[in-house]
Amino acid sequence: MTMQKTPRTKAQITPRPDAARPAGPALEFGDAWTYAPAPEARDHVKLKSRYDLFVDGRWQPAKKYFPTISPSTEEKLAEVAEASPEDVDRAVSAARRAYERVWSKMKPGERGKYIYRIARRIQEKSRELAVVESLDGGKPIKESRDVDVPISAAHFFYYAGWADKLAYAFPGAGARPLGVAGQVIPWNFPLLMAAWKIAPALACGNTVVLKPAETTPLTALLLAQICEEIDLPPGVVNIVTGAGATGSALVSHPGVDKVAFTGSTAVGKRIQQALAGTSKRLTLELGGKAANIVFADAALDQAVEGIISGIFFNQGHVCCAGSRLLVEESVHDLVVKKLRDRMMTLRVGDPLDKNTDVGAINSRMQLDKIKELVAAGEREGAERFSTPCALPQKGFWFSPTIFTGVTLSHRIAREESFGPVLSILTFRTPEEAIEKANNTFYGLSAGIWTDKGAKLFWLASRLKAGVVWGNTYNKFDPTSPFGGYKESGFGREGGRAGLAPYLEIDG
Ligand code: NAD
Ligand code: MN
Repeated sequence: MTMQKTPRTKAQITPRPDAARPAGPALEFGDAWTYAPAPEARDHVKLKSRYDLFVDGRWQPAKKYFPTISPSTEEKLAEVAEASPEDVDRAVSAARRAYERVWSKMKPGERGKYIYRIARRIQEKSRELAVVESLDGGKPIKESRDVDVPISAAHFFYYAGWADKLAYAFPGAGARPLGVAGQVIPWNFPLLMAAWKIAPALACGNTVVLKPAETTPLTALLLAQICEEIDLPPGVVNIVTGAGATGSALVSHPGVDKVAFTGSTAVGKRIQQALAGTSKRLTLELGGKAANIVFADAALDQAVEGIISGIFFNQGHVCCAGSRLLVEESVHDLVVKKLRDRMMTLRVGDPLDKNTDVGAINSRMQLDKIKELVAAGEREGAERFSTPCALPQKGFWFSPTIFTGVTLSHRIAREESFGPVLSILTFRTPEEAIEKANNTFYGLSAGIWTDKGAKLFWLASRLKAGVVWGNTYNKFDPTSPFGGYKESGFGREGGRAGLAPYLEIDG
């Protein structure tokens, strides 16, 4: 993307005559980059008006249904089933039968073939999956198309390869599946989190009952359709939709051998309490308050791109978002200026538009949480800058926002905003950067920007964060393990390490 290096003042902007531009408020600074609308087509997507539960390889009705909406327009997309404890019980029983009769008995190489087929079908249906992901969750199509869907397919490809090589993953040790995995996922990466959960579970020989988040159930249901289309044996993957009560019924069901949860720290703690004293295995992937550390010797323009993608990617709905910028004091003003200039070029709007950088906030509830935390930031005396973009009338939106003059005691420096909100702090020495970066209850991720390789590695080994990116941010790959320290949870997903939570490993 090319853009102005120096910011232009409002007076210098000459709006280009653009017939396609809808009539609306006068041009704002930033509108100079307004492109003609470039919406991704959605007529190829055939959503059903109502989705049942996918249990035992069949679509089974529930007693109650609830709507899922598009957060960018508030339009109702479909109704989905709300699984009761009895429905969850049926799903767990189906998974148990499939585990005992089919999946655990199947030759590992055959299991691998099914998983490959899921991966290939995701690729074949990638356009549909990307559009539905953006419709249901509000994220920009360029992210769902270029990140969520391809990395989801890559996860299935990657773990398909492990299915018949588990003996090599843990040499000298016997590795056996656990049984039925109950998996609960959040709304920020709906298909990708389903892939992170299902792919390693199946590769290791377990069967699955997965509950997607209530605001973004659709791509998990399309994944259920994919399981049907590739003739996955009934009961190996079951998808039960619903809200917290359904999730709670799933994780506390006695027939579940392993629980995998991604979501808020509060719910994670509740699940941990509910499972205490049982023999269930548990992995938790919870929140984060990552520090993105920028040294004066870094390539600052690149760093600014990394800061931008670290916090504004997916509207900041990212557990590993770089929501705290720690910048070396001597370059603070310069970095903030570059950051503000770059923020002015971000296009906020229709998630289906191919030029959109920042889409809709996932739900009204999440928007309210973001607003509350931002108000606290202002009250506590930090200085706020939000891009003055015209936000759509309908739907849930929040403009990219940064706070300067933040101290470690501010709530915006401590609590997850889970929105496009960056808190900027300064440091003078590498030691101070480490101390501030580690001064959090969380420990999921961090970023380091410096020209000096030795400094980067010195720092990385001292940061209490599961993932540390060097001169980049928010890069994901199925071969790399991902997971946290402290209140960010425990257990790893991805890579060889991501197999262990789904196996009984002897010796
Ligand atoms: P949440 O933890 O309430 O929901 C995550 C999933 O857990 C959803 O599928 C939900 O239905 C389910 N769930 C809710 N209550 C449950 C219970 N008692 N037992 C079992 N499952 C239950 O998260 P949220 O309300 O959607 O988001 C709140 C906050 O969580 C966000 O503001 C953000 O800070 C954090 N969050 C973190 C991640 C992450 O990737 N780590 C993802 C989403 C949200
Ligand atoms: Mn939705």
